[in-house]
Amino acid sequence: MTTEFDLVVIGAGSGGVRAARMAASHGARVAIIEERFFGGTCVNVGCVPKKLFSYGSHFPQEFALAEDFGFSVQGWSFDWATLRDNKSREIERLNGIYQRILDQAGVTVFEGHGKVLGQGRVAVDDQELSAANILIATGGKPYVPEFPGCELARISDDLFYLETLPERVAVVGGGYIATEFAGILHGLGCQVTQVYRGDLFLRGFDGDIRQFVAEQMRGQEVDLKFNSDVTRLDRVGSGKQVTYQDGSQQTFDEVFYATGRVPKLDGLFADGATPTLTEKGAIKVDDGFATSIPCLYALGDVIDRVQLTPVALAEGMWLAAQLFGESKPQATMDYRNIATAVFSHPNIGTVGLSQEEALQQASAIRVYKSGFRPMRYTLGDKQERSFIKLIVDDETDKVLGLHMAGEDAAEITQGFAVAIKMGASKADFDATVGIHPTAAEELVTMR
Ligand code: FAD
Ligand code: NDP
Repeated sequence: MTTEFDLVVIGAGSGGVRAARMAASHGARVAIIEERFFGGTCVNVGCVPKKLFSYGSHFPQEFALAEDFGFSVQGWSFDWATLRDNKSREIERLNGIYQRILDQAGVTVFEGHGKVLGQGRVAVDDQELSAANILIATGGKPYVPEFPGCELARISDDLFYLETLPERVAVVGGGYIATEFAGILHGLGCQVTQVYRGDLFLRGFDGDIRQFVAEQMRGQEVDLKFNSDVTRLDRVGSGKQVTYQDGSQQTFDEVFYATGRVPKLDGLFADGATPTLTEKGAIKVDDGFATSIPCLYALGDVIDRVQLTPVALAEGMWLAAQLFGESKPQATMDYRNIATAVFSHPNIGTVGLSQEEALQQASAIRVYKSGFRPMRYTLGDKQERSFIKLIVDDETDKVLGLHMAGEDAAEITQGFAVAIKMGASKADFDATVGIHPTAAEELVTMR
């Protein structure tokens, strides 16, 4: 087997697999090294199993809603092990698909730990490969702050393989993962407390959306404990006792930390082979994903720009085309107007600027807001609502930001993201005839 390659990729997650496949399709001799799971975080302990759990967690409210439409749904029960194991079977199927895709693309696959030895030299366990170019796509890993008892905290990876579903759960953090899992665990029947150190969770999202989601979650009886910091964790019987900064205490069956992720660099560089890192410990790259070491590139979560799968995929495609494509990319990767969703209950979909960001960037803005009760809920007493918001540049009429919280927010936002990316104006939205009756039509009827 050849050990000389045009490109050796370390990490077969979202970014690494895409870069390897595309480079091979451009005719490069490519190898990829994976030490844990094919498909990386997204497929194994991220987007995919999380979304499957999210689907599952909506069934109890669907059963309740069905009664309003005359269906009698009685005596249902939920078995955690069935959901967990069906999910794991699907993930194993996807692992196989990822491996096959790489084989079919002609990429040489190595299972083991990858390490950069120096320029053009990579080790896979005891074997050495030589590479004209090396790509680091090793992703990230959960970060848990240091404090007394922190070893008792569990992380998002654990959530996907729990032996049993705990009854009383604390989820610490106020970002994507904590908010999504607060909703999922609540939907599956746990008693959930989400603990966040600041005034209001989901920092960086639009203020009205954050407020709205907090109100909706409180309405569903998720206990949102803001302005709370955990100072210690102790084992008490079969539970875990949380002590807050004000000295108060609360006992849970399980405590999960979702307090961010840090670049995964464990054992990745031999002495003297480490490229320049950022202050936060991510690999520092230029606009072309080049590190400080010649022919060594990095992308995806390990560079800590935007930690999202479609971003890692886009970066991978860009780099493969840049290194090996017949036609090189016309411009550097564009990080503006990346649509994103939080699969919280309710879902959030967002693209473009928040009101707070727009106020800093535009001289004057117009803000359109609409809150409504989805038609599906009108036959019964379910009070859940949806909320939509548009931010418009008053001078140019361009839509700067679109934000939604409610049913199907992620799906709706994906479609509108194309319009925003193309620079649509509010007049373009107004000139679009809506589809009735839908929730999405609200976005073209706001005046
Ligand atoms: P990864 O996918 O993490 O892949 C890195 C790979 O490198 C891994 O397979 C790892 O085992 C391997 N590796 C690391 N070190 C070595 C080594 N030395 N040698 C060999 N192999 C190595 N994003 C979304 O867009 N939508 C979502 O809904 C979403 N949900 C998420 C939910 C959770 C709970 C989490 C944790 C993340 C979620 N994300 C989501 C983020 C998304 O998973 C990441 O942004 C994405 O996986 C990053 O891709 P990557 O290629 O940079 O790294
Ligand atoms: P986030 O960066 O989204 O959130 C981290 C949270 O932890 C913040 O609320 C932060 O508070 C808090 N925090 C950080 N340090 C501490 C500390 N020492 N003590 C207490 N709280 C702390 O990270 P996540 O782990 O939720 O997710 C990682 C990334 O994965 C996300 O940023 C996102 O890019 C991606 N992801 C995407 C998803 C999607 O697309 N749907 C789903 C899940 C993950 P503060 O705000 O005050 O800094």
